[in-house]
Amino acid sequence: MRNLSDESDDYPSRLIDARCKICKSEHLAEINQMLIEGRPYSEIITKFPDLKLNKNNIYRHKRHFNFIKAGVEKYERIKQQLEEGADKVVDELKTLDATIARMEKYVMSIDPEKKPRSLEVVANTMLRAIKLKHEIAGNIDDPASKLLAMFEEAVKEE
Ligand SMILES: [Zn+2]
Repeated sequence: MRNLSDESDDYPSRLIDARCKICKSEHLAEINQMLIEGRPYSEIITKFPDLKLNKNNIYRHKRHFNFIKAGVEKYERIKQQLEEGADKVVDELKTLDATIARMEKYVMSIDPEKKPRSLEVVANTMLRAIKLKHEIAGNIDDPASKLLAMFEEAVKEE
């Protein structure tokens, strides 16, 4: 009997069971493909007569080649990653919102006659935060355009 490492050139060894007729077979990849396609066991049995398979052999092999379980696990991993990514975006948007609100408040308190440079710096920061938010969130409806107009007017007046 060949040992596991001989079997595992193309497949991780944990997926191969040396006692399994199908895992040992040279038709392994082809049979796995048929299982993915959901072909009936009888078709697999008929197609590979040299293996002398029965339904139990195939049923058992599906535990070695459990693509459904692997698929569910992969889906869960991706879902988890998506949620982590979404949380990160929410945090970024919240931070940007807070920055925009703070800058807006501050911009209103500055006398443009006395502190034109401060107004410009603050308004620029606010504008960058607004632009960043739009980059992250797409062209969502918010007061950004209003603030932008306000900023442009303030700069024009100088
Ligand atoms: Zn197997």
